[in-house]
Amino acid sequence: MDRASVARMGAVASASVCALVAGVVLAQYIFTLKRKTGRKTKIIEMMPEFQRSSVRIKNPARVEEIICGLIKGGAAKLQIITDFDMTLSRFSYEGKRCPTCHYVIDNSKLVTDECRKKLMQLKEKYYAIEIDPVLTMEEKYPYMVEWYTKAHGLLIEQALPKAKLKEIVAESDVMLKLGVPGWLSGKNVRLLILGLEGYENFFDKLQQYGIPVFIFSAGIGDILEEVIHQAGVYHPNITVVSNFMDFDDNGVLKGFKGELIHVFNKHDGALKNTEYFNRLKDNSNIILLGDSQGDIRMADGVANVEHILKIGYLNDRVDELLEKYMDSYDIVLVKDESLDVANSILQKIL
Ligand code: C5P
Ligand code: MG
Repeated sequence: MDRASVARMGAVASASVCALVAGVVLAQYIFTLKRKTGRKTKIIEMMPEFQRSSVRIKNPARVEEIICGLIKGGAAKLQIITDFDMTLSRFSYEGKRCPTCHYVIDNSKLVTDECRKKLMQLKEKYYAIEIDPVLTMEEKYPYMVEWYTKAHGLLIEQALPKAKLKEIVAESDVMLKLGVPGWLSGKNVRLLILGLEGYENFFDKLQQYGIPVFIFSAGIGDILEEVIHQAGVYHPNITVVSNFMDFDDNGVLKGFKGELIHVFNKHDGALKNTEYFNRLKDNSNIILLGDSQGDIRMADGVANVEHILKIGYLNDRVDELLEKYMDSYDIVLVKDESLDVANSILQKIL
């Protein structure tokens, strides 16, 4: 073999090796790409609302499976069980805390300064216990009873007039959650975006498709109802279970009706409302929305559950509570003041 032939053969051989290596690399690339695409949980990975850093999911495959189940069941099988304060209403706005139902009264002109001072002292002590990351729910339970008993007692002493509730709600800073596009969030665009997304879309869509909504709140029912009424979203598909005020013949607060609902006794809500949930036996798919660890159990006792998606807002003491929340809620929304994730899921189902 002459030198030229050897050189030619060498070139051919090295070209073949190169081609082989390139082939292997390409095959590996395609394989990895396929595996990656194969692993994609198709729905939630394609929803922009789920790509935000505020959305934390421990088990995306499970969430995907639940959402697929909800989509399959459609409107006919769906029902919503939701908390109110700091779930449907905002936790903060422009760096300032937004009021709970109780706070709407505590901070109103209907209570004396002295009473307000006492109510604030109670809030400071017991709210810290409510969100304590170390104490268990069982340990917190008696403190919540203590808080509500003392606070409600003080409100009764103030002889609150029923006729003034409308006014104090209108004058308060309570806000339902809006849809906040990322680039607008934190800016003063309340009026601009009002009605475009957020709570209006949420409630109107649920009403339009006749989806039953159970608002289960340890707040004050009368204030809660007034808030959603004034927001124009108190539709007939909504049932409110909460602490309702009891007024005397002159319309003056004399107590609270029924058994106390506090943050950590929501687990027997379904059992205490059997008539409602029996009527909804076919609505076996549930979207649960809450912000407290007590809210996770709001659907306990619902007899016929096929799929349940638990969405939890984590508003306070985020670092210490995130792990706990991620263990118990399917989707955790960290400092999220919108209803975008819920609305995006409803859009897929309805
Ligand atoms: O609607 P939800 O169940 O969230 O209402 C309960 C909330 O009311 C709790 O998060 C608690 O912090 C708040 N609360 C309050 N003042 C009280 C009792 C409860 O702000 N006196
Ligand atoms: Mg709440």
